[in-house]
Amino acid sequence: MRIGQGFDAHAFREGGRLVLGGVEIPHTHSLAAHSDGDVLLHALCDALLGAAGLGDIGQHFPDTDPTYKGIDSRKLLSHVMHLLRGRGLRVGNADLTLVAQVPKLAPYRDAMRAVIAQDLHVSADAVNVKATTTEQMGFTGRKEGIAALAVVLLFTESHA
Ligand code: MG
Repeated sequence: MRIGQGFDAHAFREGGRLVLGGVEIPHTHSLAAHSDGDVLLHALCDALLGAAGLGDIGQHFPDTDPTYKGIDSRKLLSHVMHLLRGRGLRVGNADLTLVAQVPKLAPYRDAMRAVIAQDLHVSADAVNVKATTTEQMGFTGRKEGIAALAVVLLFTESHA
């Protein structure tokens, strides 16, 4: 077994598409980023890469590379999963937390869970998506942006 953790944060900007966990969420603001700004999938990618001992998302997908401009973060996740498969690793489970004062995320948790489970090639009960506020404290509390945390467990194929 191998464990990994990931963290990411992005600032809000007015307008645009807010995409979290591969799910588009209606909101007045989106997240500023080189990619589509899916902070949850970025934290997840970092947790997966961390568990595999493969560095971080910035090494694999530099934000100076125009290839990744506006890219769907599910494509980044798909590439990470390809790297893991190549090393004989599969996902046991993933526990994910979104930290946001706005918008309300609870109505979208199950949709995110389904998308992520599909991308990780696991059943939905192996993926947990939580959402919390910081009680109006700090940058998420001031509605300046959204943060995300991820923890994953990987198994080597011999235990599959
Ligand atoms: Mg990011």
